[in-house]
Amino acid sequence: ARRYLIAGNWKMHCRRADGTALAIDLATRVGAKADPRFDLVLCPPATIVAAVAHGVAGSAVAVGGQDCHAEIQGAHTGDVAAEMLADVGASHVIVGHSERRTNHGETSAQVQAKAAAALRAGLTAIVCVGETEGERDAGRAETVVAEQLATSIPAGATAGNCVVAYEPVWAIGTGRTPTLADIAAMHAMIRGRLSGLVEQPDAVRILYGGSVKPGNAAEILAVADVDGALVGGASLKADDFWGIAQAC
Ligand code: 13P
Repeated sequence: ARRYLIAGNWKMHCRRADGTALAIDLATRVGAKADPRFDLVLCPPATIVAAVAHGVAGSAVAVGGQDCHAEIQGAHTGDVAAEMLADVGASHVIVGHSERRTNHGETSAQVQAKAAAALRAGLTAIVCVGETEGERDAGRAETVVAEQLATSIPAGATAGNCVVAYEPVWAIGTGRTPTLADIAAMHAMIRGRLSGLVEQPDAVRILYGGSVKPGNAAEILAVADVDGALVGGASLKADDFWGIAQAC
């Protein structure tokens, strides 16, 4: 059976003091040994990855970046290498979030190169896919997501170093979610497509993301092939994030 993974994407929120306090609060709730039901990962902004990693040290809480560059180092002003995240205590990194794909024009080829960099650095890549509202309305959601998967998952991906996050763009930060049947259909499609893309496809964790809250987490996490959640807004309050984890 796959253990749930509950990942918090803090996006561009939290200064060092409140981010560290949030992380320590969660680390205290989890303790030194991971809960048998779930793993927790916190993905703060790059400026406080080191501080958050320091804050959760000794606990079972893991830390991730929100993006990385494909190269190890170089003349890339403003970018952060996967190796730099690993160097300050990260074990995970989100790649291909829709806000990166939209706001920074990232293509699946670039996302795939970033995911490959994550693996090279020894990080687990959380590879995001998801359709826009227009694509869903046009009946193209599964086609779009299948295409993103096929072109974003890097060579060498396994259940140990790669997590998929399905985040319908129209459900992010809107309070709207797909029906449980739509989530089930998409996750089943993703599971099927992972054969040939990843080693041990049946063991890969597929997260759902988009307006997950304590109030809807239990029903979403109970859907077949939903192995966790990638949480934005509700990951910024310890009680909310912990409430989602308790729904596992
Ligand atoms: P919300 O949980 O705020 O909808 O954000 C989801 C998300 O984008 C997580 O990466």
